[in-house]
Amino acid sequence: MLLYLKEEASESDVNNLMERLKWMGLVAKSSGHMGAYTVAILEGIDKNVDRDAFSTLPMVKEVRELKHAFKLASKTAPDHKSQVRIKDVAIGSDTIAIMAGPCSIESKDQMDTVAAYLAEKKVQILRGGAYKPRTSPYSFQGLGEEGMKFMKEAADKYNLVTISEVMEPDQIPLLSEYVDILQVGTRNMQNFSLLKHLGKIKNPIFLKRGLSATYQDFLMSAEYILGHGNPNVILCERGIRTYETHTRNTLDIAAVPILQELSHLPVIVDPSHAAGIRKMVRPLSKAAVAAGADGLMIEMHPNPDEAFSDKDQTIDFDEFAKVIKELKPIAKAVGKTVL
Ligand code: PEP
Ligand code: MN
Repeated sequence: MLLYLKEEASESDVNNLMERLKWMGLVAKSSGHMGAYTVAILEGIDKNVDRDAFSTLPMVKEVRELKHAFKLASKTAPDHKSQVRIKDVAIGSDTIAIMAGPCSIESKDQMDTVAAYLAEKKVQILRGGAYKPRTSPYSFQGLGEEGMKFMKEAADKYNLVTISEVMEPDQIPLLSEYVDILQVGTRNMQNFSLLKHLGKIKNPIFLKRGLSATYQDFLMSAEYILGHGNPNVILCERGIRTYETHTRNTLDIAAVPILQELSHLPVIVDPSHAAGIRKMVRPLSKAAVAAGADGLMIEMHPNPDEAFSDKDQTIDFDEFAKVIKELKPIAKAVGKTVL
């Protein structure tokens, strides 16, 4: 159940209403959007509750049933769109957010070279994995804290925002100290214990869609983070498992407009993991922006053939420059800008 409050409702009216709902034995959450408040009732409504009673509560303008099982991740109005802000970056705005960098953090020098290049190109978000979820336990597992130090040093030097993957609740305190945005990888999208812990911190969470997750599964995972108190969730479509074997995964381009329609959360596309093929990063990036993505996450390396992980899908600086150049007219066509 969603309660739309009257335009004149003040913060204290919202607080009074929340108290009243609590007294009625209901669990509710309020949110403000474009100067108007909505209150979502999350728990406690059963068949004995008289729905008409809600419309007579003070300051309530309209009562609507919540259509979806994901309540906090749901859109409350067609123009309801959240921005995730970090330093001077706003993800979910008219500027396409570009996140780029290597799959794995490998050395101080590598991070410095990548960060310097990004800064020169005016890209604001540096990616790099310090803890790597590898399919084989014999593959490179990441540099851990040492890697995070290399990334932070480079980001501080060039004034960049950083993003890196968290795999376990134990890693959260250290990672949230070194890194701005915490990434939940595909393999952990339904690690509910991890999601609950991430709901208790302030860093934005970049949630990647699971290999076989439906939109509903995906948004229910976002709901765990939102419901535990962290409103800063960014969704990422990174390809799903299908019967096609030519590509590493299949980019579900429809996910972009569908998630934008179902949810107010920003939607980013990762064309690198989606195809697993370097040459596909440019066309898929363009398709993503044309479909309405709020940004892209791209694996890029000074020398992709030498990358410790995911080299087949990692592009070099020249190819990255081409991606950005070709994105510009597409971004413009959908009323956005890139860099
Ligand atoms: C990554 O971003 O390097 C990564 C491991 O992504 P995913 O979880 O999408 O496979
Ligand atoms: Mn990778």
